[in-house]
Amino acid sequence: MSQNLDVDIAIVGGGVAGASLAIALKEGGFSVAIIDRGSLQPKMPDLSESIESFDARVFALNLASWDWFASIGVELDSLERFQSFNQLFVSDAASLGQLEMKASDVGEASMGAIIEHRVLLYAIYQLLQTSNVLCFDGAAIENLRLSDTIGKPSIISLADETDITANLIVGADGAESFVRNRANFSTREWDYGHRAIVCSVACEKPHQQTAWQTFMPDGPLAFLPLPTIGGQHAVSIVWSIEEKKASELLKLSDEAFLSELMSVSENWLGELTGLTKRFSFPLRQRHAKDYFQSGVVLVADAAHTIHPLAGQGMNLGLQDVKILTEELINAKQARESLDDPKVLSRYQRRRKLDNLSMMAAVEGFKRLFEMQALSMGLVRHLGMVGFNAISPLKKKVIKLASGR
Ligand SMILES: Cc1cc2nc3c(=O)[nH]c(=O)nc-3n(C[C@H](O)[C@H](O)[C@H](O)COP(=O)(O)OP(=O)(O)OC[C@H]3O[C@@H](n4cnc5c(N)ncnc54)[C@H](O)[C@@H]3O)c2cc1C
Repeated sequence: MSQNLDVDIAIVGGGVAGASLAIALKEGGFSVAIIDRGSLQPKMPDLSESIESFDARVFALNLASWDWFASIGVELDSLERFQSFNQLFVSDAASLGQLEMKASDVGEASMGAIIEHRVLLYAIYQLLQTSNVLCFDGAAIENLRLSDTIGKPSIISLADETDITANLIVGADGAESFVRNRANFSTREWDYGHRAIVCSVACEKPHQQTAWQTFMPDGPLAFLPLPTIGGQHAVSIVWSIEEKKASELLKLSDEAFLSELMSVSENWLGELTGLTKRFSFPLRQRHAKDYFQSGVVLVADAAHTIHPLAGQGMNLGLQDVKILTEELINAKQARESLDDPKVLSRYQRRRKLDNLSMMAAVEGFKRLFEMQALSMGLVRHLGMVGFNAISPLKKKVIKLASGR
């Protein structure tokens, strides 16, 4: 049966960014609809005490993201499973240089926490279900008619003959955003020619609440601390590596893969004994030249994707969501139309520079560590020694990573 619904804001995409935006906007006094092709129902994650229960997809959420969730009522501290980390350790396999950054250097107890995607989504969806946001899940969008005039609504038509009319449409539908593509946003983008292999691994030694990243000639490898379960220490792996080597690593038996990991990590965590299924993602840098157009605005991965080496993609996306919420609430108070370019350009101005700066820093870091010349190894080694010694610079970088 066909139905027509009228809301202030319709969000396409109910991932972490879209779903938390929906809760925040509803709290801010807007009528909100959220549409996802998958499920928006809270599904209790497997929290059994076995290494296999860990979700291969994890986020290193920084303190700013932690604050954002607290502000919308998602209390991450009360989640059943997460692991805070208070130290970052970066090493360069080629030059033997090392960097150490501690939360205590900037007077914090931690730098953030590693949290599993499905554990986080479960907490968000529980709140979403009680928030009076109109949820359309398992939904297929048939048509998107974007407004060409300020104040005139846009319309999303679903395959089940529901028409959702909204003053503003938000594209929060991830890296391959349907909204971005349908609205013809231009992007700057390129393939890294790398894949990220992700999995969780049981290890002999405790990780000491340290996130560890080593730059190898063919790409960065991260060991992110996970909670100890059933007395078993564990870490999550994000190994970004060029396509050909990635497919070789994916073909290895579990034992051979673990042995390769032990060798490249120089047994930092002792013997690696267990492994979850390995997944891999192609890595692509992408940035929408503009974050809004008539009647539509983009957030998080729909607007930008970044190399995972600094673990900042979700953190940047959550800041988009926070600032967009603030600007839309300001617009409502000032009686401005939500799709007014003046409103949306304030959001764009506040986010674009931050996002581009982080993308440039990550790109610079990645290229620096890819340079194989002996002289570059020396430069990196000296740079790392210098960085460790320059306290103000170090504090600035730690604050940047923690987002506070
Ligand atoms: C290997 C790897 C490691 C990473 N590690 C970190 C990290 O440590 N820290 C960090 O901050 N970030 C990290 N990131 C980045 C992070 O994963 C992303 O930035 C984040 O998941 C983006 O969230 P999102 O909500 O924008 O998109 P998504 O999580 O992709 O959600 C998009 C949603 O939109 C829905 N959708 C898509 N298309 C449609 C459609 N046509 N109609 C309706 N619904 C649709 C999907 O079903 C989904 O629910 C990592 C990324 C990778 C690849």
